[in-house]
This record gives sequence, C-alpha cells and structure tokens, in this order.
Amino acid sequence: MPDLAYLSVKDVYRAFDRDGEDMPAIQDVSFDVRRGAFVSILGPSGCGKSTLFNIIAGLLSPGCGDVTIDGASVVNRPGQVGYMLQKDLLLPWRTIEDNIILGQTLRGVKRKDALALAQPLIERCGLDGFQRSRPHHLSGGMRQRAALLRTLLTSKEVLLLDEPFGALDAITRLQLQLLLTDIWQEMRKTVLFVTHDVDEALLLSDEILLLTARPGRVLKRYQVDMPRPRLPSMLADPPIAAMKADMMKLLWKEVHGHEIQR
Ligand code: ADP
Ligand code: MG
Repeated sequence: MPDLAYLSVKDVYRAFDRDGEDMPAIQDVSFDVRRGAFVSILGPSGCGKSTLFNIIAGLLSPGCGDVTIDGASVVNRPGQVGYMLQKDLLLPWRTIEDNIILGQTLRGVKRKDALALAQPLIERCGLDGFQRSRPHHLSGGMRQRAALLRTLLTSKEVLLLDEPFGALDAITRLQLQLLLTDIWQEMRKTVLFVTHDVDEALLLSDEILLLTARPGRVLKRYQVDMPRPRLPSMLADPPIAAMKADMMKLLWKEVHGHEIQR
C-alpha cells in the first residue's frame, strides 16, 4: 500500500547532549502519511517538532529509526523534500522573483521558463509589482508569501512547512492559510505542517498528530472530516469544536501535568 504509507516515519528517536547527558528530544515517533494528504503536527513548544522535520529533511541523523518516502529511506539524504523553515530565509541580495524561482534555477531550469511558471502564483499571492524588490523592502507577510511560493514551486512531492505563519497578524495569516490550501489542492502535494495553533491545524488539515511534551511522542491522531473549501466559521461546527476542546485539554495536561483548573 505505497500510497497509504507514502511517507513513513518508523520508531524515530533523537537525543541531544546536555551537560554530558543524552536528553531525548523525540522518542518512538511512528506514523504514516498517505500521498496527497495534509497532515499537521501539533505539540507544545520544545517537544521536538523541528527536530522531527530536520530528520525527515535528511539534515539531521536520527539516533534510531527510519524515514521513507515512496519506500526509499531519506535518512541523511537531504534534497528529497521541499522545506520551509520558521524564519523566511530569503537571500537578501536576490530579488523577490529570483528568490521564488531559486529551486528551479538550481535544477537548471531556464530563468525565463521558471518565471513564466511562477508569475500566475506571484499574482495570486499579491506580490505582483514587487518582483524586482529585495526582501528587506517587503513586509514580514510578503516575505513569508515569497518563501511559501519558493517552497511550493520546488519540484518535490513532499513539503515540510515549519510554523510558516507564526509571526503574522490574524488576517494576513488567514489569507495565506486559504491560499496554501487552494494551491495544495491544485498541485496535489503531500504536506506536513508544524503548528502550535489548534485552529490553524483544524482549518488546514486532513489529519492532526498531537505530540506529547518533550520528548515528543505521538499522543493522539485526529481525522478532520470537514468538507473543502473550508471557512473559519466551520470551526464552530459541534464535532470540530469538540475536537478542539479535546486537543486543548490534552495539550494543557502535557504542558502543566494536570487538568485545567479555575
Ligand atoms: P520544537 O520545534 O517542537 O519547538 P525543537 O525540535 O526545536 O522543538 O527542540 C526540541 C528540544 O531539543 C528542545 O529542548 C531543544 O532545546 C532541543 N534541541 C533542538 N536542537 C538542538 C541542538 N542542535 N542541540 C541541542 N539541543 C537541541
Ligand atoms: Mg520548532
């Protein structure tokens, strides 16, 4: 069943040294993602979400375990996925358009062809007219949009997005969330999305993996059966609101070690 376990994380463990002792950051992490799914990883700050992404991206070795994409191990093999880090990491000396097409030009696509492919998306993202600007001339929201486009335009089937909208105001954030889901559906990518925002996870995802506090383990897996296209108002539907309450309760307990008390 390669499509049901298109991306597969098996028994992944990773520790970091602290004062000469191994402190586990993630432990026994196992899950499968079907091809084309949008899966969010939700967990308390410091529970190992970015560590997990760095391992899937082949940038960090797991102490134990394996990660496969379409049956092939990607452990210690960078370059198999598109990866957007929390910080936008645009190259300051390149124009916005040359940042957006970086992945294609590195693969040898002609600049003119890459720009032709990117232009409709640049317009949809509201970046038209800013193609020739340098990143420091743009607002934080615009830079995030450019970084998102760069990631979406990589030729990779699997995209890892690590809290891409964390630093944005609510309306810009919603705009980018809706744009991302539209483009994801059109491009049929497999997306893993890290967030600590329960509403964001519910609005975007087919499935949500809730992680424990450090060391991160999969605490619970949720199926989000909401029709698409989705609207924020749907989060008030009783089954979704109940799912949110359950996640908040479990997250609170992970962080504080006891139930919510007032
Ligand atoms: P999250 O992304 O969920 O906030 P991280 O994966 O960044 O969490 O970090 C998980 C834990 O591992 C944290 O306690 C963090 O301090 C530690 N950690 C992450 N990277 C390193 C590193 N390179 N060296 C030492 N400790 C690290
Ligand atoms: Mg992180």
